[in-house]
Amino acid sequence: MRKAAVTGHPIGHSKSPLIHGYWLKQHGIEGSYVAQDVPPETARSFYSSLPEHGFVGCNVTIPNKEHAYNAAEKLDDAAKMIGAVNTLWLDENGVLNGSNTDGLGFLGNLDQLLPNWDKNGNKAIVLGAGGAARAIIWALLSRGYTEVYIANRTMEKAQKLADHFGPNTIAISWDTLGEKLGEADLLVNTTSLGMTGQPELKIDLDNLSKSAVVTDIVYSPLQTELLRDATERGNRTVDGLGMLLHQAVPGFEKWFGVRPEVTGELRKIILREMGLA
Ligand code: NAP
Repeated sequence: MRKAAVTGHPIGHSKSPLIHGYWLKQHGIEGSYVAQDVPPETARSFYSSLPEHGFVGCNVTIPNKEHAYNAAEKLDDAAKMIGAVNTLWLDENGVLNGSNTDGLGFLGNLDQLLPNWDKNGNKAIVLGAGGAARAIIWALLSRGYTEVYIANRTMEKAQKLADHFGPNTIAISWDTLGEKLGEADLLVNTTSLGMTGQPELKIDLDNLSKSAVVTDIVYSPLQTELLRDATERGNRTVDGLGMLLHQAVPGFEKWFGVRPEVTGELRKIILREMGLA
């Protein structure tokens, strides 16, 4: 029986077992997917010896994504550019492959809920310069965005990302955000602001074009203040839950051989689990 896991420390609150359990059941696959606590001190050796632990692959979450990156023998382009691995699998030759599927998850969510969202997209504003921002910048560049502005509380981190991703990415100070909003086709929040227990994200959307798409990768609460404000002024919005669901798709396909779908039913199950439906 093929067995996969979500690994991290702590790992108790992960929604991944629910997501993969749903797909295993839906497809009648006799496999399993469990939550496995892996402390960072032992992470590198754990990932380098997955078969000895009975796993064909795994997801990787905080704080082990860089350990997984270092353990992988082969990295895809997304993992290389993002600099972190959230999905590991052994290929037919037993080689440990690593990918980062957060960017694909971000794209899959928008593609599903707002088809053609990127059709005329050129300019995006990304709020934040942490791990998730790296994945989203990679995703936007892969879709042909030519100007990706990065605004972050700590400007140096935004500049570091812009240097890393090259000339189509530009670091801007938080203070100049208002001016830049007028040019954007897409606004993405990748900071933890607006998340339950965190301060609200306070930005003035006055200059934002009504045709711009606004999305927030924070999914608890589902409707963040940013999304509410944007909806009220007539912008199209997409919440962040689908990113969590879509980022799981490539791993399931690698481990269990079937490409699963993100269905409305799966979304409802996760919302119920989160006490949001
Ligand atoms: P991270 O690496 O810790 O980065 C956090 C970001 O938030 C940084 O840009 C940080 O700015 C900013 N920030 C935090 N507190 C702030 C404050 N008080 N004021 C201004 N900026 C603040 O975290 P991450 O992994 O990128 O995750 C960010 C958020 O995305 C989390 O809420 C996470 O749950 C969510 N997320 C969602 C998905 C999904 O599937 N939907 C996937 C990944 C992450 P500084 O650089 O100045 O500290």
